[in-house]
Amino acid sequence: MVQLQKPPYVYMNGRITAWDEAKIHVGSEALIRGISVFEGIKGYWNHDSSAFSLLAIPAHFQRLNRSAMLQHLPFSMSFEEFRDACLSLVNKLLTRERDLWLRPTIFAIEGHWGLDTVSDLVITCYHQEKMRPEPIEIGISTWQRPFDHSLPARIKSAANYQIGRFARIEGRRQGFRDMVLLNQWGRIAEATGSCVLMVRNGCIATPPPYEGCLESITVNIVESLCKRVGIPFERRPIDRTELLVADEIALAGTLMELGVVSRIDWRRMPSSTPLIDRVREEYWACVRGERQDPAVHLTVC
Ligand code: PMP
Repeated sequence: MVQLQKPPYVYMNGRITAWDEAKIHVGSEALIRGISVFEGIKGYWNHDSSAFSLLAIPAHFQRLNRSAMLQHLPFSMSFEEFRDACLSLVNKLLTRERDLWLRPTIFAIEGHWGLDTVSDLVITCYHQEKMRPEPIEIGISTWQRPFDHSLPARIKSAANYQIGRFARIEGRRQGFRDMVLLNQWGRIAEATGSCVLMVRNGCIATPPPYEGCLESITVNIVESLCKRVGIPFERRPIDRTELLVADEIALAGTLMELGVVSRIDWRRMPSSTPLIDRVREEYWACVRGERQDPAVHLTVC
């Protein structure tokens, strides 16, 4: 889980701002209709703590642009301006031996029903322990990923996380840390903040975005790592019952990284997860700069 400890600074209105001064008006569409889109970017100390890098900034910038466009939020920053905004906050908050998680969010600060919208990029940033995720127990939610024509999963909008919040509250009551959301066809869409990976017959499979999941940057990295280490990888629809008989399950996302699932609903999973472990080792080595992969883009800060 993210430790949401209050950092002293945020980036807002084009500059570094004290946390207590970072305010949004109560009348803004950001608040009254929940109009905002965001990204989560992870920053890692490398293996010998000699450098700190942000993972996949170009991919996050591109997805933020796509989300903003689909949500009709003006956003005209160049990539360089965006990267420098992230770096300026990292330089303010970086401490030895703690990783960072940045949350760039575009808020609708003025405008009404999409008319005369004015937006602002706010970046918050939180310290993270340098730990690998523990195995997690997950359930299957009664809440559903909506259709693309009602609340598109492709847009990383705050509104999308309403459903995830319902699901996590439901899951907590049942003792689960996270929940799988099914789509309108009753198949696997994704978890509340990550995508679902499943191993069957020696192949790693994950649902494609048209099944109701975010276009995940981590899954793209996993696909590339699989190709390099020779593990078959496919994107295809996954039934609920197929997930329940999987050989291995993991959740994949920027913050989750690659988290092994030890229990799905009523089923305890086998403790051995050789394929997921192989990809996890590769992922860790790449994000910490020990090995290189063309899909793992690091920006040294
Ligand atoms: N689905 C949801 C709902 C998410 O919030 C995330 C995290 N951004 C993901 C999937 C995984 O996306 P990514 O690998 O790009 O972090």
